[in-house]
Order: sequence, then structure tokens, then C-alpha cells
Amino acid sequence: MPEAFISLGSNLSSTSEGIDKDPQVQINDALKKIANITDINLLKISSFYQTSAVGPGEQPDYINAAIKIETRLTAYALLDTLQYIEHQQGRVRNERWGARTLDLDILIYDKLIENTARLTLPHPRAHERGFVLAPLADLNAELIIGEYGNVGDLLANCSMQGIVRLTN
Ligand code: ATP
Ligand code: MG
Ligand code: MG
Repeated sequence: MPEAFISLGSNLSSTSEGIDKDPQVQINDALKKIANITDINLLKISSFYQTSAVGPGEQPDYINAAIKIETRLTAYALLDTLQYIEHQQGRVRNERWGARTLDLDILIYDKLIENTARLTLPHPRAHERGFVLAPLADLNAELIIGEYGNVGDLLANCSMQGIVRLTN
């Protein structure tokens, strides 16, 4: 079965059924949903990280994590599934890189290289982002990201300013 790595991020609470769900709860809810999908086996979950937002304007800190899965879904079907979960958890698409309740990105899907309007694989910015590389290194520091090298080396050369590992 194909293996894939997915990053999770949240820096906004959402209110559903009158309950205020903070970013850590958003990530945990997304993990539960992913674990319950028949065609996905959730193999590994990284530590959670609190990270300063790098998007436009003043934004709340993010909670970031990453997971390793195996799945019978194609890469596009996996993207559909992840976008459905984002939507369920109140993701609103407005400003690029704006604050959000949930972001689920496919970082790597097997050895697949893809470059279409809907899907770029490996994820085109994963190799330069501390908030992606730090959780990914928990899962597999030897993992190669396309032409850029392995996660451990990329992380060592990347600024860790504003990135704090949470103890859970
Ligand atoms: P970034 O890509 O810089 O992390 P983002 O995650 O905030 O930005 P989104 O608004 O979540 O961007 O997604 C914009 C579009 O990116 C989606 O509609 C999706 O089709 C496309 N996309 C391309 N490659 C990927 C990928 N590997 N994982 C998830 N979405 C992708
Ligand atoms: Mg993203
Ligand atoms: Mg995204």
C-alpha cells in the first residue's frame, strides 16, 4: 500500500455545537477523523509544535503536527478527503496563507511526482519550513524530499525560531 506524509496546522478556534474548539482540539479532531477512514491506516503521529505564524499580518500561533499513513486512496482521492475534513472543521478560504481552523497538506505520497493545478508533490514548500520539517523529523529524519535531500539535514539548516515542541 502507498505510504504518505501529511502535515496538519491550525491557528484558529472554531465553534461547533456551541463548543469552542482551540487549535490543539482541531488537530486532535482531524486525527480522529483520519484514523476512522477505512482506506487509511494511521501509522505514526509526531509531537505537536507551537509555532509563530509566517503568513500575512498579525496571526495567532499555530499548532503543527505531521502523520505517516498508508492508504488505498490515490493521491487525488486523498486530497479530496483531506479537503472535506478541512471543510467540516470550518475552514474558510479567503486570503492566501491567512489564519485557518485547519490546514491538511500532503507532503509526500510514495515516490509520486505531480505538478498539476490541484496537486504538487512533493509539497513545494515543505523543504524550507521548520514548522513542517520538525514534526516530519519525528516520523522519519531519513525521508528524502524530492531533489532537496533528507528531512534531518534540511531541518538542521532551517531556522527554528518561534518553534516550540509541546510535551504530548
Ligand atoms: P501552502 O501550500 O503554502 O501550504 P495552504 O496550505 O495555505 O498553502 P491551501 O489554501 O490549503 O494552501 O490550498 C490551496 C490549494 O493547494 C488547494 O486547493 C490544493 O488543490 C492545492 N495543493 C497543491 N498541492 C497540494 C498538496 N501537496 N497538498 C495539499 N494541497 C495542495
Ligand atoms: Mg499549507
Ligand atoms: Mg493547504
